[in-house]
Amino acid sequence: MAHPRMSLAAVLVQAVVLVQAVLYRSCEALWCNCTTPRCQKTVSWCETDGACMTSTFSDGSHEQRIRACIARDSLEPPGQPFYCLGAEGFLNTHCCYTDYCNSIDLKTPSVTSTSERGGGYGPGGSWGLVELAAVIAGPLLLLCLLLSVGVFLYHHQQRVYNSRQRLQAEDPSCEHLYMAKDSSLQDLLYDLSTSGSGSGLPLFVQRTVARTIVLQEVIGKGRYGEVWRGRWRGGDVAVKIFSSREERSWFREAEIYQTVMLRHENILGFVAADNKDNGTWTQLWLVSDYHEYGSLFDYLNRYSVTTEGMIKLALSAANGLAHLHMEILGTQGKPGIAHRDLKSKNILVRKNCTCAIADLGLAVRHDSATDTIDIAPNQRAGTKRYMAPEVLDETINMRHFESFKCADIYALGLIYWEIARRCNSGGIHEEYQLPYDDLVPSDPTIDDMRRVVCEQKLRPNIPNWWQSDETLRVMGKIMRECWYANGAARLTALRIKKTLSQLSIQEDVKVC
Ligand code: ADP
Ligand code: MG
Repeated sequence: MAHPRMSLAAVLVQAVVLVQAVLYRSCEALWCNCTTPRCQKTVSWCETDGACMTSTFSDGSHEQRIRACIARDSLEPPGQPFYCLGAEGFLNTHCCYTDYCNSIDLKTPSVTSTSERGGGYGPGGSWGLVELAAVIAGPLLLLCLLLSVGVFLYHHQQRVYNSRQRLQAEDPSCEHLYMAKDSSLQDLLYDLSTSGSGSGLPLFVQRTVARTIVLQEVIGKGRYGEVWRGRWRGGDVAVKIFSSREERSWFREAEIYQTVMLRHENILGFVAADNKDNGTWTQLWLVSDYHEYGSLFDYLNRYSVTTEGMIKLALSAANGLAHLHMEILGTQGKPGIAHRDLKSKNILVRKNCTCAIADLGLAVRHDSATDTIDIAPNQRAGTKRYMAPEVLDETINMRHFESFKCADIYALGLIYWEIARRCNSGGIHEEYQLPYDDLVPSDPTIDDMRRVVCEQKLRPNIPNWWQSDETLRVMGKIMRECWYANGAARLTALRIKKTLSQLSIQEDVKVC
């Protein structure tokens, strides 16, 4: 317990500071209880032109309470300020707009709340009689002074409060306007697609969704960490977890997925990005639709496909890539995007056996107005095995956006070869094989690949017997036209899509 004289001194200092503050208080100011280190050591309040905030959460073993001032500039977005929102089951947050209104103790989401008095001047109910007497006698005079100033300020504050209420309706219960308690992910994303914004859920909804996901099991490992299956409101989601060192990759991938008008049935559906700081490190999450078949690589390793199945996979992949590559003009338009890391491990297989292009972390966007690319293309330009000849020998013209699209088409041709080998035609199909598996080591270097692809000009083998099957013959022809050494001579995604659409009509393929 604090020494009585120390307590009295502290209280007096606080009272003096408080009186000063009353005298110099600006008309728009709001006083709040404050527990953050930003507040001066001697006081437990702060002054703001915005809102008072109180937040309660559990760090696993303890309840934590934060009371703070939120500046008016930080009350973004209007109506639902980010700082004033809690996350279900994680933190409970409330903002209010009258003096010291944040003294209330909110219930801790996961831990039963113990009664704790917040705010005020003293160390709560732990004081003895002597200390209490000292504390009461000391500030009594000051209290009288404060009361008279308080009465004067009350009427003014009421006016300020009322006008603020009109300006901003920030009751956290307004969250239901965005997120009904029982709405599923599909409801949320449907609302979004019909609202016309087309670029993703609002940031605070993303955060709320991400923080209420329960991770279940690891489903994949990639460059940056692990991919998990998670549960959210009775449905499955995929969570790609980046380490804090990979913050730029996390940010970039989230940024690309939120490109306006990107959403497409053959591109992995993005749900949310969230950066969670647990005090020691930051965990970076990217949440997307979950596809139980996993990657096309996993799928082809496990199953052979029918002719119809092959066309569905190939056509849907071309469809996704054509949408990615295409520039859509207009205010709600979409820039052309090149993937730069297309491979069977970065394409997912949906339940209806169509493809969804994933892993957009290396993608680049074209700004057609200035004919520039939105980032300086970095050194890591994809997976060596799938690199186009001009990437391997570094003759690619990086200033020309079309070059990146042509490199994607080369990789798509390799993916088609992987699919076609698994096509069961007349009872014959081949084992799964990675492209160039028979020509390079298992983890080929750039030099290994350049020797084979650029110098020896070799390409994966197209068996003669494919000529006797009309669909495999067309697939073989498409592949050859994707593999030209000259990138500009290759087919476009749109051309491939048209050819395969015709083939699917001929073969009567039902794309469900
Ligand atoms: P990285 O950038 O680390 O390569 P990816 O996004 O390519 O990460 O994911 C790695 C692997 O995780 C994929 O090859 C796939 O097997 C699995 N995976 C990724 N996203 C999903 C998803 N949405 N549904 C199912 N499996 C997924
Ligand atoms: Mg990947």
